[in-house]
Amino acid sequence: MAHLAGTDRSQLLLLPEAVDDYVGQDNPVRFIEAFVDGLDLGTAGFVRVQPKATGRPGYDPADLLKLYIYGYLNRVRSSRRLEAETHRNIEVIWLLRHLKPDFKTVADFRRDNRAAFKTVFREFVVLCRQLDLFGRELVAVDGTRIKAVNNKNRNFTHTSLTRFIQEADEKLAGYMKRLDEGDADDDHTPGGGSGRGNGKLAEKIAAIQGKRDRQKALLGAMERTGAEQISLTDPDARAMARMTKVGVGYNIQLAVDVKHKLIAEQAVSNQVLDLGLLAETATAAMEALGVDRIEAVADRGYFKIEDIEACEKAGITAYVPKPIRGPAVRDGFFSKEVFRYEPDRDVFVCPAGAVLSPRHFGKSRDNVKVDYTNRAACKACELKSRCTRTFRRVSRLENEAVLDRMAARLALRPGVLDERRNSVEHPFGTIKQWMGQGAFLMRRLENVCGEFSLTALAYNIRRAITLVGVPGMIAAVRP
Ligand code: SF4
Repeated sequence: MAHLAGTDRSQLLLLPEAVDDYVGQDNPVRFIEAFVDGLDLGTAGFVRVQPKATGRPGYDPADLLKLYIYGYLNRVRSSRRLEAETHRNIEVIWLLRHLKPDFKTVADFRRDNRAAFKTVFREFVVLCRQLDLFGRELVAVDGTRIKAVNNKNRNFTHTSLTRFIQEADEKLAGYMKRLDEGDADDDHTPGGGSGRGNGKLAEKIAAIQGKRDRQKALLGAMERTGAEQISLTDPDARAMARMTKVGVGYNIQLAVDVKHKLIAEQAVSNQVLDLGLLAETATAAMEALGVDRIEAVADRGYFKIEDIEACEKAGITAYVPKPIRGPAVRDGFFSKEVFRYEPDRDVFVCPAGAVLSPRHFGKSRDNVKVDYTNRAACKACELKSRCTRTFRRVSRLENEAVLDRMAARLALRPGVLDERRNSVEHPFGTIKQWMGQGAFLMRRLENVCGEFSLTALAYNIRRAITLVGVPGMIAAVRP
C-alpha cells in the first residue's frame, strides 16, 4: 500500500479562500487581537499612536504590540525572526492582516516602548482580577537570575582586577628578569636563535603589559565612581550567584499569587542579592491586586529585619524562615535558636539553664543591639565545649520582636513554605525551560525591564488561557 501522498501543489483553490478560515475560534491569536484592541495605547505610553498628518504612513503600534505578544508566547523574540514569521506564519499573517514590517521597525518599536510594556502587563493583571483568577490572599516572592548580554570574562570586580594586576606584575617581573639575563630558552624553536626567543618574550611582555594597563584603568574608574562591578558589554549587568553558579545577569523579582500561580507583580533590578527586596515587591503586588493587606512568603534569602518590619507597617504578613548562620554556627557551637528568650524578664535562658542578662548595648546597622551574657555560669559549665571558647554572648536587636512574631506564625503554618516553592518555581521553570527565555536579548536595565514585562505578560496569558479558554478570555475583554 502506498503512503499518503498529500495534494497536488499546483491544484487551484488548494487553500481556503479566506485566511480567517485557518485560525480556529479557540486560537490564542484571537485573544491577542481582542486584548490589544481593548487597550488605550496612548494612555499606556506607546509612541506614535496618532498617525502623522504627512509623510509615509507608519505601522500602528497596536499591530506591532500584537506581533510581540505573539512572539513571546511562541518563543520567537528576535526582531529578525519576527519579521520572518510575518512572511510564513499563517497565524501572524492573520494577526497582522498581511502587514510585513521589517526587522528594524520591529526592533525600534520594542526599544521605543520599553516602559509601556509594563503598563500592558498590569492591564492584563487587572483583567485576571476581573476573572477572579487571583486569590489575593497569599503571594510567593522569589528572585532568579536571567543572563545578560555580557560574558563572564567581560565583568570585573575590585577583587578580580586587583588579583589580575598583582599576578601580571609578578609575571612581568619574571619575564623582565629572563630578558635581562638573555635566558629565553623556553621560547626557542628548533633551529631558532636566542635573539628570536628574546623577540617572542618581548611580545609576551607587551601583551601582558597592555592587558594590565587596561585592567588598571578599569580599577581606577571603579575607585573614582565607587562602582562595585564593571561590565563591559552591558554596563548595567552584574555578576550574581544563584545556587552554586555565578553568572552575569539581572535579578528578576516575582510575586506570584498562589491560587493559580499567576504573576501579580514583576520587577527587574541589578541588585546582586534578594535581601531587602521583599517589602518593595510585596507592596507592589498588593497594589496590583487591589488589596489593603496580604500575606507574603519568601525564602531565607529575604531574611532582613528592616524589611520584615517594613512589611508589617505596609500591611503585609511576612513568612520568611530564619537562616541558621553566624560565627557560633560556623564554629560548630549551639545556634541562637536553642537559647530561649523571655520577654517579661528580658533575659535568655541557655541550654544549661543559666540566665543570660543584658550587658552591652551596641549598634548593628541602624538597629540597637543588646548582648546577653553570664560569664560566671559559662566558667563552670559542663556544656561549654559545645557552646563557646570563653563565655557565650547572645545578641538581640531592639526591634527583634518583629522576628519573634514571624517565627510564631511560621511555627503555626509550616506548610506555607511548600506553597511558596510550588507556586513560584512554576513561572520560573516555565519561563526558562518551556518558553526558552533564560537570557535577555537587549542591553541596559530599562530595556531588559521592558523585555521581561513581555515575558511575564506572555506567561500570564498562557496560564489564563489554560484556565479560562480563549472564548472565555475574549468574552471578558469584549463583553
Ligand atoms: S557555656 Fe554559658 S551560655 Fe553556654 S550553655 Fe554553658 S552556661 Fe550556658
